[in-house]
Amino acid sequence: MSVLTPNKIDVDAIRDQFPVLHQEVNGKPLIYFDNAATSQKPKVVIDALSAYYEQINSNIHRGVHTLAEKATTAYEETRKRAAEFINAGEVAEVIFTKGTTEGINLLASSYGRKFIGEGDEILISHMEHHSNIVPWQMLCEEVGATLKVIPVTPSGEIDFEAFQSLLSDKTRLVAVVYVSNTLGTINPVKEIIKAAHEKEAVVFLDCAQAAPHMDLNVQSLDCDFMAFSAHKAYGPTGTGILYGKRALLEKMPPYQGGGEMIKDVSFGGTTYNEIPYKFEAGTPNIGEVVAFKAALDFIDEIGKEQIAAHENHLLAYATERLKEVEGFTPVGTAANKVSVISFNIEGVHPFDLGMMLDAKGIAVRTGHHCTQPLMDHFQIEGTARASFAVYNTIEEIDQFVDALKGIVKVFKK
Ligand code: PMP
Repeated sequence: MSVLTPNKIDVDAIRDQFPVLHQEVNGKPLIYFDNAATSQKPKVVIDALSAYYEQINSNIHRGVHTLAEKATTAYEETRKRAAEFINAGEVAEVIFTKGTTEGINLLASSYGRKFIGEGDEILISHMEHHSNIVPWQMLCEEVGATLKVIPVTPSGEIDFEAFQSLLSDKTRLVAVVYVSNTLGTINPVKEIIKAAHEKEAVVFLDCAQAAPHMDLNVQSLDCDFMAFSAHKAYGPTGTGILYGKRALLEKMPPYQGGGEMIKDVSFGGTTYNEIPYKFEAGTPNIGEVVAFKAALDFIDEIGKEQIAAHENHLLAYATERLKEVEGFTPVGTAANKVSVISFNIEGVHPFDLGMMLDAKGIAVRTGHHCTQPLMDHFQIEGTARASFAVYNTIEEIDQFVDALKGIVKVFKK
């Protein structure tokens, strides 16, 4: 019989939907705490992917035959579902990408080259993932713009006053992460967007970590652009979305040239397709996009509020219990956090921690988490990071804490 958690989530029933969780790793039942890197996939997503390849595999938008029409319909159904998931004003504002990284590169390359020039400024924060740093650095180098960095506080929050003083008439774009993958911090993006708009700067939100935990409503947030990857939100790898307001997307040149993104091609000149197809050159990851819909349905069927309540319960419990581990030092103690705990243990290298936990069947991420400037800021080489999803349990956290205590004992000898 399954037991409901205090948040009315039937974790056993949810776990039953994730085949990968039911295995032993190094002779121990798998405890998967690397969800911020990628989440596991429920059976509905796996089944949707195989059903696509078993029943309707075909190229989209071009064929008139039955399978091509079925594949096109399924692909476009995901676009509708994704638009609904983020409450976009219209379906055409959703562009399929390979994931967050490609969304940001598309934006920097298309919007950036056209609308950002010499003397202009782009603001990012010190807690950005490399994928929300490097494309902007490359753009600034190319067009002669300046990249400015909003500092973070010792607890790992955006220094809002510093942000306001960095905002100026030269700021063209503010690109910030909604939820930090390293610290778990939930940033006050609504306030950031409002302040940026007062200076007529556009705002891009990196929602890679927000998508599986937070309600995303692009209209009430009023962000100009946002991106996330399906694979961190129970969906397949190789797909994700970039959202942009129609008025902005229409003014932007295509990102890549090729099939699909054109209206007419001749050697005298080519005209481009309308949005979103203008930004979708070539054959996309059709099967993965189709299965992505099942992931969005999975999240909404449980309910984002329920998911967040369960994960917050895990976060609060783990935060408290980890205090029992000698030398435990959390990195990122913001008041407003998702279920990500980055930490170090005095005298133990994060890499050794990761290896020793793996020997006990516990998967955590170790290293700089693609946030090297943030590691430099905290003057650390890296951290170990445990990140929880809807299928994780209090019992797993107990085993994790026991495992850490055991590791500390070995190192103290
Ligand atoms: N931004 C953040 C905050 C992330 O956590 C990640 C993935 N770790 C990315 C961007 C990049 O996502 P992807 O690798 O799926 O493109």
